Amino acid sequence: MITFDRVGKRYAEGHDALSEISVEIRQDELVFLTGHSGAGKSTLLRLIMLMERPTRGQVIIDGQNLAAVKARGIPRHRRNIGVVFQNHQLLLDRTVFDNVALPLVIAGYDQRDIGRRVRAALDKVGLLPRERALPVTLSGGEQQRVGIARAVVARPKILLADEPTGNLDPALSAEIMQLFEAFNQVGVTVLIASHDLALISRLRHRILTLREGRLVGGYP
Ligand code: ADP
Ligand code: ADP
Repeated sequence: MITFDRVGKRYAEGHDALSEISVEIRQDELVFLTGHSGAGKSTLLRLIMLMERPTRGQVIIDGQNLAAVKARGIPRHRRNIGVVFQNHQLLLDRTVFDNVALPLVIAGYDQRDIGRRVRAALDKVGLLPRERALPVTLSGGEQQRVGIARAVVARPKILLADEPTGNLDPALSAEIMQLFEAFNQVGVTVLIASHDLALISRLRHRILTLREGRLVGGYP
């Protein structure tokens, strides 16, 4: 589902943020991406989302070589990818429902479809009873669940997360990881950047380690 073939990324005036990255992630996998700050985790995720272009090599997503995706094709490409951020980036003056609905509204779904899909997504993350709540009235863990519901509401094939448990305590972090596992079990390919080694090494999934922009064996 996700293939990197000798990918390199150098930012303007920068050193190499990624070098010689070759890796394949199958459709049925949940994979962790770890490494110290600055190792290149976010850059790798941004290449998948086409927020950045590689300097060298090829990125192939669901059979599509991203080099062939022009600027106007980027929104369609992103519809296949849900993204979860550490700070979840919720709109604070909108209800839980409206936050989760946002990607569908932007994509032009009709009202009835939006209602059905938003409630299905909220149900999956256990927040259906809170659909009318404002995000500020929710706990940190609940807010991250809203972020996850929003990421999956359009049924993406791929779910990316950048430090999704960075602000949560260990118990809540474990619950959030269980949610990602549940989406993986229904067929979503999941890639999670995390430096929480204590947590991710307990879970039985492949761990990719970046060190100064290169994939290395073992832990950071
Ligand atoms: P991580 O997510 O593992 O912390 P990043 O991918 O954010 O790592 O960063 C990898 C390297 O690329 C770092 O040296 C960082 O400073 C650099 N970098 C990241 N984004 C940019 C950018 N927009 N412009 C220039 N350099 C960047
Ligand atoms: P960062 O927070 O790492 O600096 P950017 O500023 O480059 O990220 O991204 C701009 C915004 O675009 C992000 O805050 C995010 O809300 C949005 N965005 C980017 N890619 C996607 C995507 N694939 N799906 C949904 N939203 C996205």
